[in-house]
Amino acid sequence: MALTENPAPSSPSSPASATPPAPTTTSPVAVADPRIGGLADRLRATYRSGLTRPLNWRRRQLQQMRRMLVDHEDEFLDALATDLGKPRTEGYLTDIAFVLSEIDEMAKHLEKWNRPEKVSSPMVTQPAKSWLQPEPLGVVLVIAPWNYPVQLLLVPAAGAIAAGNAVVLKPSEVSAATSAVLARLIPQYLDDAAVVCIEGAVPETTALLAQRWDHIFYTGNGTVGRVVARAAAEHLTPVTLELGGKSPAIVDASANVRVAARRIAWGKWLNAGQTCVAPDYVLVHRSVRDALLEHLQAAVRDFYGDDPQRSDSYGRIVSDRHLDRLRSLLSGGTVLFGGESDDTERYLAPTVLVDVDGDSPLMAEEIFGPLLPVLTVESVQDAIDFVDQRDHPLALYVFAEDRVVVDDVLAHTTAGGVTVNGTIVHLTNPELPFGGVGESGMGSYHGRDTVRVFQHLKPVLARSTRVDPSIAYPPYTDRKSKLLRRFV
Ligand code: NAD
Repeated sequence: MALTENPAPSSPSSPASATPPAPTTTSPVAVADPRIGGLADRLRATYRSGLTRPLNWRRRQLQQMRRMLVDHEDEFLDALATDLGKPRTEGYLTDIAFVLSEIDEMAKHLEKWNRPEKVSSPMVTQPAKSWLQPEPLGVVLVIAPWNYPVQLLLVPAAGAIAAGNAVVLKPSEVSAATSAVLARLIPQYLDDAAVVCIEGAVPETTALLAQRWDHIFYTGNGTVGRVVARAAAEHLTPVTLELGGKSPAIVDASANVRVAARRIAWGKWLNAGQTCVAPDYVLVHRSVRDALLEHLQAAVRDFYGDDPQRSDSYGRIVSDRHLDRLRSLLSGGTVLFGGESDDTERYLAPTVLVDVDGDSPLMAEEIFGPLLPVLTVESVQDAIDFVDQRDHPLALYVFAEDRVVVDDVLAHTTAGGVTVNGTIVHLTNPELPFGGVGESGMGSYHGRDTVRVFQHLKPVLARSTRVDPSIAYPPYTDRKSKLLRRFV
């Protein structure tokens, strides 16, 4: 038996979605923004005018985006606190500093990342030169969710701008305070002829999705991801889908258990668990299970004190609906610690669950909140089998000092990305593209890829007319044929 607490793994194909479609209609805006009608066409006219092409224009927009974040840092942090009770340090690091560092990378490499890249040319085409010529896609739509509402809107938008596109930014209506700040400041800082922020919920997004874009970059749950992909298919528009899923943390018998517990605790309870790459559940080897549970509890005490509700380092749940959903998941196991909640503050304590029912919603859907089920396994193979039977997660974490175990897990599981002996931090490395695989999404970004995702690398082969050998031209003779066979 692979799992003592989970003899019957849930269906691998159950959609891992913390956010089913209905709830997004909780705060619909009755009247659509009048700018929405024909917006893609208007921006396409701007794009065709050439406004967004010069690198100077792009650099200026990136500088302005940076300035907007720096000038109004407090307003952003206040809004994040209103929406998510986000501690200011967390808000700064994950929603402000992260964007600044991506913008700075783009500005630093703007010429290089938009410069043609030489490649070799085959003999039969000589004399010739070949290159990949980056060009913008045109007019792109960026749709963001509420959990890192600044980062997940502005990083792709900056990439689109750096690549020379016109862009529409659609922040999440669920993080309403942050959305309002973005909608007010973006037109003050950025060129509104080519960069437009549209607030709204399902009606507005639906109206935007009906238009023809050259790329749609969507971050959010998989249910709406399918809505986006269907709408895009109408116009054969390519999409990037940055989705979620249940990201496992595997703790091997060889792990440094104290460090593992602290790093899992940090990744899990950052933003009160509302992080797409938060460890969703833990698979721990029986021999270190009790130690891990003790260290998890100690880590929570260390990080948030005896009463996390009074800690200013711990966030809040984004809405009453999400709080209710998370509370309903508590019945999927036995609460080892935590479990307390307070409606007036949308507070839900850092919570660890044991004796987990593998068929419960707790193990079927992405938790996306501060509940951490800990399941016991008898071997690394059991953990690999457990992960392998489910949808490919957005992230996977393996804690082990034994290199063979790490290699084994890496070789036999699939995930969007991995941190070994840590959580979340793989996505802070701009050298590592960030994105999902299978149910956790398609396409990736960060670093060079944040710009590349919004570029078409146009292949060009330019021949010289200095010579024009007739070897490939008809009439085909035996001699030409023999010669050609030596070259192709
Ligand atoms: P959300 O409810 O804010 O929705 C995301 C966006 O989709 C919003 O802008 C919203 O207006 C729009 N939307 C919602 N319903 C729609 C509909 N029916 N038609 C058209 N547009 C619609 O955010 P969410 O989906 O609850 O976000 C949480 C999910 O996002 C989790 O699954 C999480 O794992 C995932 N996520 C992924 C990443 C990543 O980078 N891969 C990052 C953050 C969150």
